[in-house]
Amino acid sequence: MSTPSTDRPNWSLVERELLGGGFHPSRRLGQNFLRDPRAIESVVAAAELAPGARVLEVGPGYGVLSYELAARGCELVAVEIDPRLAELSERILAPFPAARVVRSDALGGKHALAEPLLAAVAAWSDWSLVANLPYSVASPLIALVARLPAPPRRIVATVQLEVAERLLAPPGGGDFGPLSVRVQLAYRGELVRRIGPGAFSPRPEVDSGIVCLDLRQDRPAAADWPPLDRLVDVLFQQRRKSVLGVLRAELGGADAARALLLAHDVAPELRPEKLAPERFLALARDRRWRAHFEGSPSAEAAEATGRAGRGPDRSD
Ligand code: SAM
Repeated sequence: MSTPSTDRPNWSLVERELLGGGFHPSRRLGQNFLRDPRAIESVVAAAELAPGARVLEVGPGYGVLSYELAARGCELVAVEIDPRLAELSERILAPFPAARVVRSDALGGKHALAEPLLAAVAAWSDWSLVANLPYSVASPLIALVARLPAPPRRIVATVQLEVAERLLAPPGGGDFGPLSVRVQLAYRGELVRRIGPGAFSPRPEVDSGIVCLDLRQDRPAAADWPPLDRLVDVLFQQRRKSVLGVLRAELGGADAARALLLAHDVAPELRPEKLAPERFLALARDRRWRAHFEGSPSAEAAEATGRAGRGPDRSD
């Protein structure tokens, strides 16, 4: 029996064969394949993976990044939704016994990770998420893995530049929103580099960025997420009102709202979009907010969808 070769595949040939076989990249599935070796190298270098490191990749495509991860000796799980690409990446990864492809959507419905993905990482305590993420999946996926009981220690992901800006945005700017709060409470991040459309095939219409996110020791506990989700939703629904105005309506009185805000040094006239993520967490942990949350329909909904709450929206 011949052993599969570990020579790096000729990616132009792989792509040509795929397209020649009638494959049409899907816009809906964000099938823009990374072709620039420098961009791929930037992703792998930022991940700082030692041999044996456990890595989850979402969307291996035809395996260009997966190959580099597997060739470095990583224990790789690559989750791919498209059966044709799953089959191809399985072939590309065949020489590496520590790498496997899971055929599945990474997301299970609107507010959850898919069961096969959860099962694959369930026993992992020290692992990384490394991926060139499809547009429709990037924001919810990152927000959802951030609240796992054992989240990835590092996330290195290529995302649309606009998503990178929202992930990393400081309070006060137009990019700062629910995604920024939820992710920044769990991770400290930076932009590794921008990538132009020419690095991909086919070319996307927008620029992309590689982000590197490192897990915070002081991230929210599982019990913090449901009241925090509710607070983030309530405050960002009216981001240009004062926090006092929004919470007065929510808590049923100005006195209750003012007492909550002043206990955490939040100026009542501040707009929600100027509130630091840590302030959101402090307010969400306050016994007054918790009591209000626990008596609301949102608490029942969070209970019904599991301890970590309903999670972020796919469009978050
Ligand atoms: N990693 C490859 C690369 O860098 O060239 C491909 C990246 S391409 C941007 C996104 C990949 O994610 C595609 O292979 C696509 O089929 C897959 N994908 C899209 N939506 C997905 C989902 N919900 N779950 C898992 N894979 C998905």
